[in-house]
Amino acid sequence: MNFQTTSLTNQPNMDQNIKLLVVDDDDVDRERISRFLKNFKSPLMIVDASTGSEALKKVTKEQIDLILLDYNLGDMTGPEVLKAISIENNKTIPTIMITGMGDEKTAIESMRLGVFDYLPKGNLTAEKLIVTLSAALNHTKMQLELQKKNDRLSYLSLYDELTGLANRSLFFDRLSQAVKQSERTKSKFSVMMIDLNLFKEVNDTFGHQAGDEILRVVGERLSKVFRKSDTVARLGGDEFACIIQSKMVKSNLLKLIDKAIQSISQSIVIDNHVLKVGCAIGISNYPNHGVEGKTLMANADIAMYQAKSSQKNYCIYDKSSERKTRAKITVSECLFKALQNKELYMVYQPKIDLESNKIISAEALVRWNSPILGYVPPDEFIPVAERCGLIEEVTSATIEMVLKQHSAWNKQGFDIPLAINLSAKMLDSKVFFDNLLSIHNRFQISPKKTILEITETALSSCRLTTQLTLNNLIRAGFKLSIDDFGSGFTSFRQVRDVIFNEIKIDRLFIAAIHENHRDAAIVRSIVLMAKNMGMNTIAEGVELEEQMEILRSLGCNNIQGYAISPPLKAENFIQWCNKNNMI
Ligand code: C2E
Ligand code: MG
Ligand code: MG
Repeated sequence: MNFQTTSLTNQPNMDQNIKLLVVDDDDVDRERISRFLKNFKSPLMIVDASTGSEALKKVTKEQIDLILLDYNLGDMTGPEVLKAISIENNKTIPTIMITGMGDEKTAIESMRLGVFDYLPKGNLTAEKLIVTLSAALNHTKMQLELQKKNDRLSYLSLYDELTGLANRSLFFDRLSQAVKQSERTKSKFSVMMIDLNLFKEVNDTFGHQAGDEILRVVGERLSKVFRKSDTVARLGGDEFACIIQSKMVKSNLLKLIDKAIQSISQSIVIDNHVLKVGCAIGISNYPNHGVEGKTLMANADIAMYQAKSSQKNYCIYDKSSERKTRAKITVSECLFKALQNKELYMVYQPKIDLESNKIISAEALVRWNSPILGYVPPDEFIPVAERCGLIEEVTSATIEMVLKQHSAWNKQGFDIPLAINLSAKMLDSKVFFDNLLSIHNRFQISPKKTILEITETALSSCRLTTQLTLNNLIRAGFKLSIDDFGSGFTSFRQVRDVIFNEIKIDRLFIAAIHENHRDAAIVRSIVLMAKNMGMNTIAEGVELEEQMEILRSLGCNNIQGYAISPPLKAENFIQWCNKNNMI
């Protein structure tokens, strides 16, 4: 074993011992190589082999990091050893080929086999060997780091960073697998939706870190309650869901539900505070309560609301009692039909510049007049869509409508940027970014002409996947806007880390701005910060002339609100622009 230092520079600094396998049938050559490597800087453990088959055995048994391989061995050739390693062990170990022949043909053949480098024995020196070995190790180190990063990314595309549970995308994948398998084997399974009771209160009172800790602990407890064959997931926020695969009789299912409730309700100590968060659980069973994943989710959601509204810990979906529950519960069911029957439509609200009195962009807002429920505001149905897995469809439908409208307006020579509101959930979706780009391509709209409004709360989750999607969006040219700024937990880190083009000041600060100097001071500070960071500020919910005046004096010239115009249907929007000379 060698752990000696050398004065040669550029030698890799690996944290662990490197195991080098020297394969050479010539004892003198092997000894010479060991001598040459005495001055190798990184901790190096040399093992050797004098035949190809001995080398293969060592590779199988030991963790070899690097191979110095003689081209001609007694029993095999170097290339044959390499092929056998890759076939038998399914491994690629960085290899440096050494040969006495030194001809070009051998060198090319070695390179073709994927060896890192090729050294002729004739003029081999300690320095040459150390430099080549160092380069190979640096290369390996980089490959390992890259591999680690890739592993982390693929992990994050399937698992929730905070709890380590499956994320919503893996959950819905497993759900469709469960449906397919149960169709084939005629077996049953259950879907459980869990919503924490006091999570929002804990978050608001003790802050995000405490909230995260609660989620982490609940995740840990849930994974202990269920079997490995079940899927436990965090769908987002404080919503957890499980797929219970086993064929359980009802009494056992009830025992399991009880265990989950008991385990979540145990106290959690955070910063010397003893906290208790209860939960409401909704259950739906395949095939009685639905034969499709989405129906099962919607019905588990309904059951969960039944549990919440009747102050119970859990409810199993029951069609007959569903009618008794609040109208809100049927939202998810009606939303299915709304998407199929194209009941959703968009309205557009102008954002204008007070100085030039011209329109700078328009915000697209979704509307839903349900034939069953009447008008349902987006504030109400978007969270339901998020919970029951319909948000992807709702988002696709809205993006499609907005870009179709944008393209139609473009053809009429009317080309202003349009803003689309995004649910936080979309930033964690694997397919969202590609879909968004492909719809833009289809309608031939440049991403530069689309503003994506993302609420501050969505950003404060700080998830790596959110960050990755945001970076992709920025790279593709989309403009990003922070919506409802100041209404959630302000995360200046996000403002620092992500390049936003626009900050929309929540109407909470605008409503009384003409009467309350503290609101005015907050708005002035936000405007100043945005200006210093090269971002545009827009005041939301401006309803009065006095508010406009104050905003102008505070340097906030961009506004949106009823004082200018309420959201309008597409045809009325163009009329409004023309009538007010806005373009
Ligand atoms: P938001 O993005 O902050 O949208 C502004 C909301 O303020 C809209 O309500 C708009 O109609 C309302 N508003 C505009 N001017 C005034 C005013 O002067 N006074 C008052 N009191 N309100 C004003 P809306 O359309 O009900 O939307 C509510 C929220 O629902 C939106 O807040 C947004 O977060 C969400 N939302 C709306 N459309 C979509 C959508 O297509 N996708 C997603 N994911 N969310 C949407
Ligand atoms: Mg908005
Ligand atoms: Mg807003």
